Amino acid sequence: MAQAGASGRRGQSIDPHEAKEAVLGYCLKKGALAAGVADLDAINRIAPPGHRPADLMPRVKSVIALGVGGQTQGAWTVPAKAMAYFGSTETRAYTVAYGLSFFIENRFKARSIYCPPDLDNEEGPRVPLQSLKLHAELAGIGARSLAGDILLHPEFGYMYFASVFTELELPPDEPMQTNPCPAPSCVDLFRKQGQTPCMKFCPAQCLSGDIDEHGQQAAMHYEMSKCAELSEQYEALPRILSAAMAAEDAAAREDVLSDVDNSMFWYKMSVGSGGLLAQCFECMRVCPIATRSPLADPIRRAEAREAAANQDGTA
Ligand code: SF4
Ligand code: SF4
Repeated sequence: MAQAGASGRRGQSIDPHEAKEAVLGYCLKKGALAAGVADLDAINRIAPPGHRPADLMPRVKSVIALGVGGQTQGAWTVPAKAMAYFGSTETRAYTVAYGLSFFIENRFKARSIYCPPDLDNEEGPRVPLQSLKLHAELAGIGARSLAGDILLHPEFGYMYFASVFTELELPPDEPMQTNPCPAPSCVDLFRKQGQTPCMKFCPAQCLSGDIDEHGQQAAMHYEMSKCAELSEQYEALPRILSAAMAAEDAAAREDVLSDVDNSMFWYKMSVGSGGLLAQCFECMRVCPIATRSPLADPIRRAEAREAAANQDGTA
């Protein structure tokens, strides 16, 4: 048994390894595909001042990262105009994280918070309060890809992440030792055409990079503003309103507000479509890790469960 040492606020002795098992077990039971604990010292070395965990929670001792599955297999077969409504599954990750913060306080009496995944209201619409991506990467549940640093996992492919901060001490995990990106077929395409599939099929052409002689990432460039203009439609609202206010007369104002593209925006707002915050998804649609990893979607996961059950002779 691991050395006892961590303690909750009420002073009871808590085995940190048992606590970690309970915490990560909660995440998986509630629907996460992967979960881990990020090394707090490593986060503090990498995250800039103002965006370190203690900047939100002064006595934080552990950062837990979890990932939920991305799209269904069927989603990758529909045209872009349908994908524009799909949004993402990130709210599922937030739900698990929110519940986990309650679980830790209830079980271990250690203060916990669901880490806000939101933008820093003092720094504008492109700067998050915390990097959930960094937490997940250091917790070993994803590695940075050539597609704008989207984290990919060799088994689960493309996930959405959430984090929990807690005053409970938990032993940290390590980052993944190998990166599934670029996949061998992507290296082949890059050698022939100078672009990987994500770079080639990005409609905004905002991805570029380099692959070294060993088939590993050598450089990654991502022009976030181009991607955001195409895919993050929440930034369109002030532009539309500004154009409407600047219109010369009522008819011109009506033209702006009822423009076909802008009408789609009002529609998505009215139905609460997650598509307002989506990517355009084309980089992931063509990514072999995102779409064809062994447990990348519910069908593949069901097949894997069946195969495992058959192997155990319990099917
Ligand atoms: S989400 Fe779309 S625009 Fe952004 S990097 Fe991916 S393919 Fe390019
Ligand atoms: S398509 Fe996927 S695996 Fe291939 S280079 Fe792009 S992100 Fe990496």
